[in-house]
Amino acid sequence: MNMENILQSADWKTEKHVPVIECAEQVTAGELCEVKLSLGKEIAHPNTTEHHIRWIQLFFKPEGDKFSYQVGNFAFTAHGESVEGPNLGPVYTHHAVTAAIRINKPGTLLAMALCNIHGLWQSSRVIAVK
Ligand code: FE
Repeated sequence: MNMENILQSADWKTEKHVPVIECAEQVTAGELCEVKLSLGKEIAHPNTTEHHIRWIQLFFKPEGDKFSYQVGNFAFTAHGESVEGPNLGPVYTHHAVTAAIRINKPGTLLAMALCNIHGLWQSSRVIAVK
């Protein structure tokens, strides 16, 4: 099975489905740092009852380690649904979240996002530790 066909990736500047990971390039071991996860930073992704981002998950793979760790699972659960009909509801969850993490090894942050109709998308970002 070719995972690239399932977990799609591209440059987030040209593809609205790619999760954007924003954090410091280097952090101090053991100190809290913020990681902002969003999507559609350059090209907005729709947020409607019919077409929206369901969730973004964050993983951390320490450099040289075999396994990745799940860091967070952020669900976006309101997309204008209502008894009045689609897109007539009072609230939409925007697909952006800021997580606070502590790491004590350098590694790679991996973000995975699910669009309800366009499937799974991923991106990664190396993070150094001093
Ligand atoms: Fe989509």
